[in-house]
Amino acid sequence: FDDRDGVIWYNGELLPWRDAKLHVLSHGLHYASCVFEGERSYAGRIFKMEEHHQRLLDSGKLLGFEVPYSRAEIDAAAVAVLAANGIEDGYLRPVAWRGSEMMAVSAQHTKIHVAVAAWQWPAYFTPEARLKGIRMAWADWRRPAPETAPCKSKAAGLYMICTMSKHAAEAKGYADALMLDYRGQIAEATGANVFLVQDGKIHTPIPDCFLDGITRRTVIDLAKRRGYEVIERVLMPEELDRTQEVFITGTAVEVTPVSEIEGKHFTPGEITRNLMTDYDALVREHAAAKVA
Ligand code: PMP
Repeated sequence: FDDRDGVIWYNGELLPWRDAKLHVLSHGLHYASCVFEGERSYAGRIFKMEEHHQRLLDSGKLLGFEVPYSRAEIDAAAVAVLAANGIEDGYLRPVAWRGSEMMAVSAQHTKIHVAVAAWQWPAYFTPEARLKGIRMAWADWRRPAPETAPCKSKAAGLYMICTMSKHAAEAKGYADALMLDYRGQIAEATGANVFLVQDGKIHTPIPDCFLDGITRRTVIDLAKRRGYEVIERVLMPEELDRTQEVFITGTAVEVTPVSEIEGKHFTPGEITRNLMTDYDALVREHAAAKVA
């Protein structure tokens, strides 16, 4: 991923992609003092940009550091990097981390570095292909309790168990893993939130120990606009037996149907289909508003 043309915004400058490097003794690498974002652009316009950049600043604060740029400055950096790379439908990755001035657990006086990269991300699958749904495995790792980790931060350290869970799922032939939380309740996928449809109503876990995704909140609004009842409550794995539809939401996956969770099968139905359509319409409308 590091050997390509293009530019990356790095501490206030647009650098050639290949030159956007950091030192091996960076604190963020050794001690996970690092937060990031994942956001998408549709037709050259970033969807929910302000929310993502506010979350980046909040994530840093939760890890005890101040990102040294304002939200408006990160907005401008993201817009600049998108334009400089000529990206229309793309994915943006802002990231902030502690530098290499100190190498110990204590790192009070490290510089906070910030970068924003962006790359093309066209729609790979037609809506019909996506409607087949993805197959998921159960993760072996559980989301930690709020007093165990800063679970509201989109912090790099919290992704260690996501990568391990995703790799284990892929080794068994599944696309992703569904994680329980420390109490054994259904929590989320490795990079997306989860929803269950039971008898025409939409159920989703209370985000008290994992990310309350920006897409999650958007999809809840879209569902309510359609007149669907959305219930945030404790969801237990046994409930999959009385669940008709499952879908996941996230910036990257948008609204993606789930066809199986380790032997339990689901058929993406009307509710999932309508929310996929509505989400797609919303991001396209937002993109079109640029020229209005
Ligand atoms: N949970 C995790 C662990 C994630 O990585 C993501 C993606 N950022 C989400 C949920 C969904 O968040 P969002 O809708 O804000 O992309």
